[in-house]
Amino acid sequence: MMGHHPPGQETLFYANIILEERVRKNHPLRRINELIDFEFIYKEVKDKYGSKGNVSIPPSVILKLMLLLVFYNVRSERELMETVPERIDWLWFLGYNFDTVIPDHSVLSKARKRWGQETFKSFFERIVFQCLQAGLVDGKKIFMDASLIDADASTNSVIDSESLKRYLHHGYQELEKRLEEKQGETSKSGDHKVNSRYISSTDPDASIVRYGGKSKLRYKTHRAVDSLCEVITAVEVTAGAVDEGHKMLPLIEINEANTGIKVDTVVADSKYGTKENFLTCNDKGINGHMPILKNSSANTASRKGIFSEEKFIYDKQTDSFNCPAGNVLKRRTLHENKQNIEYAASRKDCSSCLLKSQCTNCKTGRSLQRHVRQDDLNGMFAAAQTSQAKRDIKTRQHLMERSFARSVRFNFDRSRWRGLWKVNIQEYLVSTIQNIQTLIWNVTKPKTKTLALPCVHEASKRFTAVLSSVRTSLTLLYIQMAQDSIRNLFSTFLCHLCFEDCYGV
Ligand code: SF4
Repeated sequence: MMGHHPPGQETLFYANIILEERVRKNHPLRRINELIDFEFIYKEVKDKYGSKGNVSIPPSVILKLMLLLVFYNVRSERELMETVPERIDWLWFLGYNFDTVIPDHSVLSKARKRWGQETFKSFFERIVFQCLQAGLVDGKKIFMDASLIDADASTNSVIDSESLKRYLHHGYQELEKRLEEKQGETSKSGDHKVNSRYISSTDPDASIVRYGGKSKLRYKTHRAVDSLCEVITAVEVTAGAVDEGHKMLPLIEINEANTGIKVDTVVADSKYGTKENFLTCNDKGINGHMPILKNSSANTASRKGIFSEEKFIYDKQTDSFNCPAGNVLKRRTLHENKQNIEYAASRKDCSSCLLKSQCTNCKTGRSLQRHVRQDDLNGMFAAAQTSQAKRDIKTRQHLMERSFARSVRFNFDRSRWRGLWKVNIQEYLVSTIQNIQTLIWNVTKPKTKTLALPCVHEASKRFTAVLSSVRTSLTLLYIQMAQDSIRNLFSTFLCHLCFEDCYGV
């Protein structure tokens, strides 16, 4: 029979509703609450609040709200605050009741400004340390990659700083000032901006990057992921035009500072495989498992069909090369900025050489470059081409793709806020959430095992109960048997005393 829902009056008051009981046992927020200590934030931001004035929203609640914002990929802070009263699990996670007053959405942006990116960096570092303590971080082998983040700004906001437009634009003076400040900062940090000529009036920290056929304002996130359980151990956001190759050493240093373990092997793609990076690895005693950048550009159109550098044999004694035709390429100049020594054959030899068409397109003859530390580089190149290195390079592709693919769920590839420091906060939150997920997946497993213990205990209890009941039955049987035999003995004894003629009946 079909049931009908009678239209009735809404219940005005609900008694005996306990939020704790309404949130299921395996709810991810319950696990986060069990695993993560949010109380640390009080100590972290203590100096950022005054001792008088209005009482603020507790920092632990603000941090949890920011976590909810990214974890559930809520479009805006306004929408987050509107959704909080509708979600029992969120209310429980925040320690709120049905009648708690929900803070205004502006609380979050004010807190971000007050706390700064250092607080979120500290939160990220704490979770990395927790992963380390849980045995989820090896620390010795790290994988690296970078990915682009679309800035929250239209390409229409881009201004050519060298065009006449600047004289017409109202806010240009302000922008120019900010650009100058930014150029000062980037030159200090070693970042090389390719397109500093074009600046966005809405997000000047982002830079124009062409990717997938489209030029857009973008940022770039640089990540180091540990090999053991794919914990993100180092992260940094830069303008989109910054070359990831320049971020290898900073990521190694961040990883070592966060884990306290010296890196043994770095695995990265060919963009990191520069001579400078190989030499850095050599100086730090690190194995650089990266495709050599030079090799990936060896088959360019201008070099196609001409002798590769391997055909030229270097003679250490005379510090010169011998070419396939048997002539000598002598040392010519040192290029200071790239630390390369140029070797060249004599023009006369090359012009009369029969192999010239296979050797060079240059009229003056063939020349070669050799790094001043080529012997160190050769050693590193050989180590980067071993079977283990090739396996690592293959693993890196899947591992890093997986790491960024998981971040897509949290909308990492689209910046929520404008400004480099805010995008850094976003990336810290995304990476922290991913690491918390890794903690949940791996740390709750032993808990499941410990949960199984009561089952074993229960089984043992049941076994003991059965045993005891069997023992009781046996004892009862034994007593019964003993009683019967005593009764028999007693009746026999009475029979012997009796003088009736019924003996033996
Ligand atoms: S072109 Fe010059 S460098 Fe090349 S093989 Fe001939 S002589 Fe040697």
